[in-house]
Amino acid sequence: MAYRVTLIPGDGTGPELMDATKRVLEATGINFEWDIQDAGMDIMQKYGTPLPDAVLDSIRKNKVAIKGPITTPIGTGFRSVNVAIRQALGLYACLRPCKYYPGVRTRYMNVNLVVVRENTEDLYAGVEFDLGSVEANQIIAMAKSKIRSDSAISIKPISITGTKQIVKFAFDYAVVNKRKKVTAVCKANIMKFTDGLFYKIAREIAKEYEGKIAYEEVLVDNMCMQLVQKPELYDVLVLPNLYGDIISDLCAGLVGGLGVAPGANIGTDTAVFEAIHGSAPKYTGMNKVNPIALILSGMLMLRYLGEKDAGDKLENAVARVIAEGKSVTYDMKPDRNDPTAVGTSQVADAIISKLG
Ligand code: NAD
Repeated sequence: MAYRVTLIPGDGTGPELMDATKRVLEATGINFEWDIQDAGMDIMQKYGTPLPDAVLDSIRKNKVAIKGPITTPIGTGFRSVNVAIRQALGLYACLRPCKYYPGVRTRYMNVNLVVVRENTEDLYAGVEFDLGSVEANQIIAMAKSKIRSDSAISIKPISITGTKQIVKFAFDYAVVNKRKKVTAVCKANIMKFTDGLFYKIAREIAKEYEGKIAYEEVLVDNMCMQLVQKPELYDVLVLPNLYGDIISDLCAGLVGGLGVAPGANIGTDTAVFEAIHGSAPKYTGMNKVNPIALILSGMLMLRYLGEKDAGDKLENAVARVIAEGKSVTYDMKPDRNDPTAVGTSQVADAIISKLG
């Protein structure tokens, strides 16, 4: 049986990264029927939009997509194609495993944690009122001198529904992936209603997993310090949107940065897999950038599809290429100008040869 998967090459360095990833995924022995869909800057002229309806229709139909990075165009109705895809498909969970692979240059050797970030609400819900707007002035009046009169305002909604969804996702992920602990992270000592609600709901959900998965709470400022000092203490972190955005980049930094950080956006029955990094446009067409983050996103996709053995085999092949340190791109060499650095497609070749 072949898995029908929507494949979005993206723009900038996206197409070359995706070409490498596609070859590697096919070399795992799993059969794919790729439904290739164009999105991003390169198709603006042809379609008048960076996100044609056909792309979303294809993902809705196939339920699984792998996506190259897409540049955020300036001056269109879209804040970001990436955000538009997540919103249109209700991909409420942003999953970012951060794992150290021997051979990666980083100060931290003992990190293997997973950040689960809520993707749809919080200060990123887009409920903002500009300085001087009627709404801002109404809220300022309502707040009875707690807000200065010359303020712009962003609203931070945290709902029972959104919190239940994301915390349950984190615990289920922990169970399926044999993790031991979920840590809920927010700032409930200050934001007693919004972040307080996040903890209240998280505690209720945690009870359902008592005896199987441990639960703890850490305030976000303390979490930043803990992660820098002893990241090995943490396993699965679950956070509202804004803290999740910041902490997941911090964690990606702990394990070596953008070139090796995979990601996934997951909803009730649909998932889109993509690297954390952007389209790195200055390197477009140069066969230069690191495909490992997107290839590891492909590994997450294999596991999501239930192809655990193929996922493990791929991760092992990637780990061996990193450990050898020979067939890696410039960003993984001790010196960025190292002449022995290879290109995007040669990294894929090396991984494929390890897959045997
Ligand atoms: P970026 O991640 O594209 O690049 C920042 C720098 O990181 C690059 O100049 C490069 O030096 C390095 N880098 C990034 N990816 C790399 C890789 N795979 N291998 C080696 N080095 C790599 O971030 P940016 O320059 O801020 O964003 C460029 C565009 O990408 C923007 O339009 C942004 O909105 C978009 N973006 C898209 C996504 C997405 O598609 N999900 C995510 C982030 C940014």
